[in-house]
Amino acid sequence: CGIVGIVGHSPVAPLIVDALKRLEYRGYDSAGVATIEDGRLDRRRAEGKLVNLEKLLQGEPLGGLIGIGHTRWATHGVPNETNAHPHFSEDVAIVHNGIIENFAELRSELQAEGFQFTSQTDTEVVAHLVTHELRRGRSPQHAAFAALKRLNGAFALAIMFRGDEDLIVGARNGPPLAVGHGDGEMYLGSDAIALAPFTDSITYLEDGDWVVVRRSGMEIFDISGSRVERLRQQSVGTS
Ligand code: GLU
Repeated sequence: CGIVGIVGHSPVAPLIVDALKRLEYRGYDSAGVATIEDGRLDRRRAEGKLVNLEKLLQGEPLGGLIGIGHTRWATHGVPNETNAHPHFSEDVAIVHNGIIENFAELRSELQAEGFQFTSQTDTEVVAHLVTHELRRGRSPQHAAFAALKRLNGAFALAIMFRGDEDLIVGARNGPPLAVGHGDGEMYLGSDAIALAPFTDSITYLEDGDWVVVRRSGMEIFDISGSRVERLRQQSVGTS
């Protein structure tokens, strides 16, 4: 339902939760955040309101200068902590809005390859697909692209990799996804409203686009893998 990603220079978990709060009006049944700190991928997830996630984080804080967060509106799998995003597969963390239509077929294929599923979501196939592509020797960026090409359905995605604390890959095919431009920081959000505390300089992805986001900037590609330019604009009336 709601996506936020930050490649920043101060601890991002509290910032991500604050940004997710700005998307609360859209409704959700659970929430979660994942960060990478000193090469460790970690997450906190909670059923119900964001205040539950905040309480969890107060007791068990998450450090890290890079992270992704999500508010979930369950479509596949009951609303509980196990089905809450971010979903993990080895070194990959992912949040997803929308529906992966061919998830059942992909899940059977990945299970046959030996992947163990821990949730009932359609989302988890994407995490394992990316791991599958990484194991074939692809770079994070190319593993994400190869996985994207296998997906049918409507999705906005943010993907993070344990081995690279300066990279979030985003993708859009249906639900909106915007890149926010900061000063030595970059953001991803399903809505400019979520990013309003950080920046009003926004680039919306178009359907079929995917983006490589780093602190130094971003590059957008289309589904054929060609570099594309999208308008950078000042968002208005979102603060
Ligand atoms: N289909 C995914 C799930 O059920 C994502 C739902 C959403 O958009 O929040 O977990």
